[in-house]
Amino acid sequence: MRLIYIFAFVLLYGSFGQSKNLRKSPLTAPIRVRLLRARRAIEMDGFDLRFDGDSLSSSVLPIHSTVEISRLRSEWLIRKNHRVWRAHGQSLVVSGEMLEFEKNLQPPATYVLEARSNASFDVVADLRRKVYLEGVLPSEMPITWPVAALEAQAVASISYARAQALRHEQSGFDVDSSINSQVFNWSSYTRALTRERRKLAHVLAITRGQILINKRGQPYLAYFDSDCGGVTELAQNVWARPGDPTGSKKIVHHFSKKGIVYDQYCLLNPHNRWHYFVTWRQIQRAVRGEFHNFRGEVRNVKVVSRSPSGRAYQVEVVAVNGRQLLMLSQIFRQLIGYGRIRSTLFKIKHFRNGLEFDGRGFGHGVGMCQHGARFMALNGATYQQILSRYYPEARLINSRVHSAPISVIASSE
Ligand SMILES: [Zn+2]
Repeated sequence: MRLIYIFAFVLLYGSFGQSKNLRKSPLTAPIRVRLLRARRAIEMDGFDLRFDGDSLSSSVLPIHSTVEISRLRSEWLIRKNHRVWRAHGQSLVVSGEMLEFEKNLQPPATYVLEARSNASFDVVADLRRKVYLEGVLPSEMPITWPVAALEAQAVASISYARAQALRHEQSGFDVDSSINSQVFNWSSYTRALTRERRKLAHVLAITRGQILINKRGQPYLAYFDSDCGGVTELAQNVWARPGDPTGSKKIVHHFSKKGIVYDQYCLLNPHNRWHYFVTWRQIQRAVRGEFHNFRGEVRNVKVVSRSPSGRAYQVEVVAVNGRQLLMLSQIFRQLIGYGRIRSTLFKIKHFRNGLEFDGRGFGHGVGMCQHGARFMALNGATYQQILSRYYPEARLINSRVHSAPISVIASSE
């Protein structure tokens, strides 16, 4: 058995050496965060700016400089007043001190400008764990919340990022800085009060090296959401299946139940229950915005299937002319607005001019429930207890002890 794990290790980790972005270990490498997407030009300023690209090696601008970087016909142009430097290639590496762009101070990092086309590029920062979590934690959980909840969030967030890094080994970045991954906002850290930064530093020091791993010894994809509404959900019961991104095909399958957690803690959240009324016209407009061929006046939305947690999995939008449109309830939620239909743990009430959604929780329901973690912490739970409750299939390890990936894999036997 052990030989199989070692063989798997060689296959998995042996390939890292061939990658253009060498990743020494999935547990300690910098995290590549996409900060800006599809820009044509950015203005950057900072001290000791340094640029590295094909045909432009280690060009250093001394003292404080402001430059404009743009991409034109597969070339990088770096302008400072009337001087222009040029570089070729897919990427341009930028580093410096006290770097600012888009009018915001940026975290200490190496920045890679990664070409998307001949005319546009993404800005990706290579961030150390501590810096990454300093920008994630205050964006994803109020810093005023109990320490144990913040500690659990720190471990969940780093596990999530490292799991995404494994999945995106061949792409230009590991995680996005938006809600598409988890929010990284450096200014929420720079604006924090001194005592809040101290609290954050304590949380990051306590959880240093702590990471959740799955049965294969890899970083665990630790999803989390705001409020599970009293019962968590499994990832496979929420999102689309391969080949059908909107869930337009009727799915006859067995929903998995193993790993669902019943949660009495978030029921203490006063916003756990919600109601939202939506008119036929609003539904019509939202649905047609995405499904352009859907014609007819909407007169019903039916829940077609529910997962064992009670969440709507697929819904059907029905028009007066008899046309029906099947979609994932998550897609429907997205069309109406995530902040309006706050979860898919809802019941629908019919009225003459529209529908009322009565639900519980806020978010997809997968993984750690943040409000649940908060009330667990207020009741004296440690971050280890919070994590083991919401991630029953994951194991918490210290990556500084298990520094070699092989020992992580072998020890999971
Ligand atoms: Zn909950």
